[in-house]
Amino acid sequence: MKTYQHIFFDLDHTLWDYDRNVTESLSELYHHYELLNMGIPTFQQFFDSFHHVNYQLWDDYNVGKIDKTNLRKTRFPRIFNHAGGQADAIPIEFEEDFMHRTSSKPHVFPYSKEILTYLKGKYQLHVITNGFNESQAKKMNSSGLTEFFDLVVTSETTGHKKPDARIFHFTVEALKTSHQECLMIGDNPNSDILGAINAGIDQVYFNPEGKQIDLNPTYTISHLKELESFL
Ligand SMILES: [Mg+2]
Repeated sequence: MKTYQHIFFDLDHTLWDYDRNVTESLSELYHHYELLNMGIPTFQQFFDSFHHVNYQLWDDYNVGKIDKTNLRKTRFPRIFNHAGGQADAIPIEFEEDFMHRTSSKPHVFPYSKEILTYLKGKYQLHVITNGFNESQAKKMNSSGLTEFFDLVVTSETTGHKKPDARIFHFTVEALKTSHQECLMIGDNPNSDILGAINAGIDQVYFNPEGKQIDLNPTYTISHLKELESFL
């Protein structure tokens, strides 16, 4: 077994419970802005449209089809259209309110802090995320994750998104270490696992839903506690 020195974590859907945090803030927004009166008849409809549109936009962002500004500018108009609501009725502060509420949410995956406490005694821990600087920092603060990590590398800082190997090379160089001493843990086969493979770094695929993938990760786990059995 290799001797790792540095563990890289993905943030959204790996430690920070994106779905739970987003669901809470969407529910608050639906009621606060009375979206029923803007043509969206149920929260479920708003929620389903959010997922449909948001995942499409993030896929587009991840392959460089749209930038951050456009993602944020077009997100809720598209969601409102998809949900059958009146996009021209969206309050000007809606996107910002969504970002603020969501990144202030505290929920993390089960056993996140326990495993980080365990690992911190043995390795240096870092984050590599395709998210934006400001929102990722807020999420980590509000969920109590900041203290565990030495380096937080974002696609916004490096100019390269996972699965581009350059975001991993940047991190390895910044740490003055070697690829063999690093291990990447993440939930996304396309960005985290393929990205680490591209960079020559071992990978842990966090797969709580038991998805089938075409790649062959170094390790696969369905619960964060399983990391204790090999790290
Ligand atoms: Mg993720």
